[in-house]
Amino acid sequence: MFSRVKQWKRDGLSLRFTFILMCVISIGITAILLYTIYQAFRTFHALSVAADNYIELQADAASLLEASDYLTEQAQRYTVIGDREYLDNYINEVEVLKRREAAIEVMKERLPKSAALRDLEYAMSDSDVLTGREYYAMRLVLMANDDPNIPSAVQNVKLQANDLKLTDEQLMKRASRMTHDDGYYIQKNSIRKNLSGCIENLKQQTHETQNTMENNMLKNLVWVTVLIISQSLSLLLLLWVTTRLGINPVLQAVEHIRNDQKLPIIGASEFRYLAGTYNKMYTAYKHSIENLSFKASHDELTGVYNRSGYDLIEGSVDKQTSALLLFDIDFFKEINDTYGHETGDLVLKKAAKTLQDNFRTDDYICRIGGDEFVVIMVHVQDGIEQLIRNKIEVINKTMENSSNGIPAVTFSVGVSLYQKDAENGDRFRQSDIALYDVKKHGRRGVSFYTPSLPQAV
Ligand code: GH3
Ligand code: MG
Repeated sequence: MFSRVKQWKRDGLSLRFTFILMCVISIGITAILLYTIYQAFRTFHALSVAADNYIELQADAASLLEASDYLTEQAQRYTVIGDREYLDNYINEVEVLKRREAAIEVMKERLPKSAALRDLEYAMSDSDVLTGREYYAMRLVLMANDDPNIPSAVQNVKLQANDLKLTDEQLMKRASRMTHDDGYYIQKNSIRKNLSGCIENLKQQTHETQNTMENNMLKNLVWVTVLIISQSLSLLLLLWVTTRLGINPVLQAVEHIRNDQKLPIIGASEFRYLAGTYNKMYTAYKHSIENLSFKASHDELTGVYNRSGYDLIEGSVDKQTSALLLFDIDFFKEINDTYGHETGDLVLKKAAKTLQDNFRTDDYICRIGGDEFVVIMVHVQDGIEQLIRNKIEVINKTMENSSNGIPAVTFSVGVSLYQKDAENGDRFRQSDIALYDVKKHGRRGVSFYTPSLPQAV
């Protein structure tokens, strides 16, 4: 890990690696965000189911009470009025409608093993006890009315011996008492108590569910907030990384290329690699251009400027503060003929070197033809003639000294000093006229151009 960090510091972060990492982070955050939102929806759904359940189960419990009350009402009416219709209604509720049993079934399905179900079952068994009492009372009424159509549920009721001896009127009274006395109402109240216990339990359970769900919802919301903030931060990070690793290096690279400079090694490792490669190519290119221009403007044999170099220099120097000296080796053909061309080359090299040694580095030394050299002296002042004569004398002395097997030669020199309004071509022509003057008068020496010199060369 540590070596990895070191490598990052050296080579820069990889754009590929960074983008893959950022994508993985972003996709990861999005996935968790979606999951959290899904959980929030589920919690919300569970919350609304809990509320619906409560409403339905409350209605369910109420329906058991309603059925029980209905049975009470029909039983009481039958035992007081004796109208058969009430008995039929009662039997229809118990055997066909079965609302009490239906309520228990719903509760068992929705809240199995709950306290609410337990209370509802207690209420049901209380109701069943009451039903047994009512069957007995209704059997008494049937007997009092001599009604032979006895419903099967009541048929099984065995009347006590005492009751069998009662008159019809006594039978009705006893039946009515059985459905109105304290014992009856105690049982009835027990049903109500159990039912209200059931509803209370329902409320409590629903409340607990709601609390849990609310807490879950709150947690989900906190998570969603945290994740959205993280997502925004990762987006900002992505922008920053993109700018630092990719956009900045590209902008800077364009700027440096425009200014013909090497590229800075910055940004992602891929850009650093590109910049490094570009810089290598740039250096190689610059070297070859320099070489090319050096070769184009310099004489291969002597290393001083050649004719092209001379043309460029002569075109750009200030004519009013410079002098042009045209050097020509005397009888050079003879050197070649006597010692050979290679020795002639050595003489040319020595001539160039001697000129370089005797003029300032600011001055320009050029070989413009076979044995012809031009020296352009810059920043010259009035009264320079003597200095030039002295220099040429020293140069000739050096050239006459035949050392290292290089034969002695001399220079004839024509000089055109700075002249106001002199044309570019004129200056060379003037030196040539002066040079011709030296050649004509025995060579080895210098002549300064004056208009009095013979003009045609
Ligand atoms: P003068 O005194 O009148 O100048 O006589 P010269 O013999 O020097 O005559 P000129 O200057 O006209 O001759 C120049 C000679 O330089 C002619 C040519 O053979 C010789 N030459 C030209 N280029 C080269 C070169 O690159 N190497 C050598 N060795 N000789 C060259
Ligand atoms: Mg010559």
